[in-house]
Parts: sequence; C-alpha cells; structure tokens
Amino acid sequence: MTNKDLADLIFPNAESIENIEKKYKVRDLKEGSVVTRFAPSPTGFVHIGSLFTSFIARKVARQTDGVFILRIEDTDQKRTVENGIGEIIKDLENYGINYDEGIIFENGVVKEKGNYGPYLQSSRKTIYEAFAKSLIERDLAYPCFCTEEDLQKIKEEQELRKDRLGYYGDYAKSRHLTIDEAVLKIKNGEKYIIRLKSPGDFNKKIEVKDLVRGRIEFPENDLDIVLIKGDGLPTYHFAHAVDDHLMRVTHVIRGDEWISSLPVHIQLFQCLNFKVPKYAHLSPLMKVDENGVRRKLSKRHDPESAVSYYHERGIPKEAVMLYIMTVANSNFEQWYEQNRDAKLEDFKFDFKRVGSSGALFDLDKLNNISKSYISRLTAEEVYEKSLEYAKEFDKEFAQILVDNKDIAIAVFSIERYQKKPRKDYENFKDIRKETWYIFDELFKDFTYEEQKVTDRELLKKIISSYLDSYDENDEEDKWFEKIKNIASMNNFAANMKDYREHPEDYLGNVTDIATVLRVALTSKTVTPNLHQISRILGKEKMKERFDKFLQA
Ligand code: GLU
Repeated sequence: MTNKDLADLIFPNAESIENIEKKYKVRDLKEGSVVTRFAPSPTGFVHIGSLFTSFIARKVARQTDGVFILRIEDTDQKRTVENGIGEIIKDLENYGINYDEGIIFENGVVKEKGNYGPYLQSSRKTIYEAFAKSLIERDLAYPCFCTEEDLQKIKEEQELRKDRLGYYGDYAKSRHLTIDEAVLKIKNGEKYIIRLKSPGDFNKKIEVKDLVRGRIEFPENDLDIVLIKGDGLPTYHFAHAVDDHLMRVTHVIRGDEWISSLPVHIQLFQCLNFKVPKYAHLSPLMKVDENGVRRKLSKRHDPESAVSYYHERGIPKEAVMLYIMTVANSNFEQWYEQNRDAKLEDFKFDFKRVGSSGALFDLDKLNNISKSYISRLTAEEVYEKSLEYAKEFDKEFAQILVDNKDIAIAVFSIERYQKKPRKDYENFKDIRKETWYIFDELFKDFTYEEQKVTDRELLKKIISSYLDSYDENDEEDKWFEKIKNIASMNNFAANMKDYREHPEDYLGNVTDIATVLRVALTSKTVTPNLHQISRILGKEKMKERFDKFLQA
C-alpha cells in the first residue's frame, strides 16, 4: 500500500488539482494591481471592525485597479446563522463597500458573481478534498483517528511533563500509523479527520513580513493541525490557503487575531506549493470604557461595535466612512481638511500609516464628524436623507416630512448656507427632536419652557405689538428693530450695553422679549433664528400659536 492508495481510499472521486488550477487562471492584471478579499463568517453580527477591515481591503484594491472579493466563510456550521449572509451584504451595501466578485443577493436568492468562485466556502468542499488528497499522496497529510478522549489524554500527559500543548511529534499518535494500519482502520469504519503532517521544526525560526507590523519572527510550526474536520468541511487555516491561492489573492488583510497562526499558514502555502501572499494584520478597534480602561470594542459589551448601531441612529454612512478613514490612516484628517471637495476615493491609503497598537474608536469624535457632515449638506439633501431614515425607523415623521416638504426644507435651510453653518443635527434621528415644533402635527403635546416674563397683560401686549408690526417682507435687521421697539415701549432695554450698565433701570432686555415670542411660537427657549422661524410659520400660523399660548 502506498500513500496514493490511502488517498484514493479516502477521496475516491476527487478531481485532480491540475484540473482545478486550470480553472483558476492567473489574473490578467496590470503590474502592481492588488487582489484583496473580505472574508466574514455569517454569524449574524457585523462588527464595526469588520467594516474597517473590508473598507481597507476594498480601498487598496481600488487604488491599484485591482480586484476586491467578498467570500463567505461558513465552514463553522455551528456559528452560521440564518440570514447571516444577508446581513453582511446589506451592511456592505449600506456603506457603499461594493465588490467585484463574490456572493450577491438577487431577489432574496444567494448568487455568485465572478469567475473565481464558488465564493461560499461550504460550496467548495470538493476543491478542499482535492488539495487534501494531494497532500496525503505526498505524505504531507494523514487521517487521524484520535477521539476526544485520546486528545484529552495527550493534553494531560503534556501538562504532567510541562511540555508544549498540541498535536505534534511523538504525541501525534495517528501520524505514526503505517499506511496499512490506517487503511485497516478506515475499512473498519473508524471515524477520522485529516491532519497536516507538519514538516516544521519548533526549534527553528521563520521570519514573516507584515505590512502593518513589519518583520516578525516565529518558531516554525510543528503542529499537525486539522485540515478537514469530522463534518467534511475544512478548517479556517486550510480554506484560507486553498481559497486565497485559487482566487489569486495577493494581499490578505485581516484582523490580528490571526497573526499567531502565520507560521501555520505559511507552512501550508509551502506544502501546497502556493505562492505566499502578502499579509496585513489590522489591530482591533479599542475604546476607553466607563472606568477609564482601554480595551477592545466588544460585541458583548458595546452596542456601538455593531454596524447596525449607526444605521439605526441615522448616523450618515458617509460620516462613518470618514471616521473609519481617520482611524485607518493618521494623515487622513489633514488631507480631508485640505481637500474638502475631493472624494474619499481620491485619498491614497498607505499601510505604513496604519497604527499597529489598536486605534481608539471614539464615538464622540464620530458624532462630531457626523454633525459637520450634515451641516455641509444642502437642505434638500438633509430632507432626502432624513426622509429615507424616517421611512425605515419613524413612519409618522416620514409622513409629516412628505406632507410638509417645503416647510421642512425651509427649516433645514436656517443658518445653513453660511461660513460656519449651524450644527444642530448629529444624525438623522435628531432631526425630529430638533424640528418637531415647526410641524403642526407635532406641535401639540408639550409644556412651554419657562421664561422671564410671566405677567399676562405684558405678554399680551408684547405679542399683539409683534403681530401688528410684523411684515413678512422685512429683512432680519428691520425685523429686529421692531422687536427692539417693543422692548423700549415696555421698559426693556433695547440695547444690551445699556442693560449691562444699568440693569436696575429696566424690567429686562430685548432678548427677554424675543424669548417670549420664541416660547409662544415654538414652546422652546432656544431655537435657531427666530426671524426665519416666523417667516416659515407665516402670520396666520403665528396668530394661531399666539392664541394657543395665551390660553395656556
Ligand atoms: N472568516 C474569518 C473571520 O471572520 C476571516 C479572516 C480572514 O479574513 O481571513 O475572522
């Protein structure tokens, strides 16, 4: 019996790897083009760190006229959840992370796009088998019959001897079976998995170059890691080597939880005679928690770790992407300041400027970016985007926006088109909170905020003088002159300087008069520009609101 007989017995129908290689041609790309992929597992949760990784992978491919692939890693069937793929695709789409090849959704059906698929690992079983078979034939892999109990015993023995844990060397029992013994066990129906017969020596060192971390030295791998599991599917390690080779990926960009597996991966590429790709390991996003402790942004403890968090709060995707770019490359912020009108695509990402110690993910900073971003949109854009948000998350407000388009746009225009635009809205959820009072439909159940003037006769007088003198054609200066007049007539200082010098001479000052009007019209003591609010409401509506106020 030979290794070939053993391989044939295990995988009788496997295709030859030569045939497979022919189907995955070397890509015809120009010199320097980079092929990257985003390879999430469909666990039903897309972490903001994954968005970060996918954004960088896409960016690097785009800026070199390369290819960006979405591959779904569903070989861990226990972690795979229903519609996990749909969630990933939706989030990528929401954030404009489009890809050239991979899994797509068309009318609710999972489909493939591209010539290097399948892009769903569970559909690639026969491919992994072919490569596993070739390794067995070349005495670089073998069936392992060890049970859980056997592995436990090995571990106990290693602990007793204070030896390194793992399946290797003399501890690797099945590695030392003869081919005949292995064949017999298979024929007897014993269960097995396929392991790598590691050619590594733990006492030797290998050096790896990582694009973010630079050179790293590791001991060689000597663990006989699992290639094909009991369910017939590959492990991450094996699938990574086979897929990234066949898909002709040039740069593997992934989370740094995989960095310690590099010796395994490099060895696998070598055993399979594949060219080793370039690696870039990204550090996890960090946060400073309530106790001031710097730690990883965690799926369990931090709601902001989910990509859906931003969507649900109406934080514009552009702001999220701007922030991600800021976190990704230290020189981005400066570039963006100097190139306000340039597209994000124009920024040149550089691995050398990626921090290797874990960037701080600062929600306050993201919110500030979001505020500035919204402040620079046109009122029409704010309208469209807040309507889109409301249609998904606040149907009542969506209807109000539809029914009051002109009013909404007028409100969003207040103090917008100026050097320093007003920054009221941190996200599209805030829009209702900041503008509800302008819409009659919402101007119902509220309490008027407290203000200085409470005397009813005086309130009536201020309001009727305002209405009598109000002319919608007045520009702001003229309008304000009239308010000053009302102030003077009622012994309120029209001029702040006079008031500050002799407060005892007055009942108050002109801002108190404006506040009376503001509260009567909006219920609030603080709003954007009252002149513009008055114009938007118009005289009739102001009258109604004043009546309502005086009756309250
Ligand atoms: N499926 C792996 C994960 O979600 C992908 C790592 C990689 O990009 O290779 O961690």
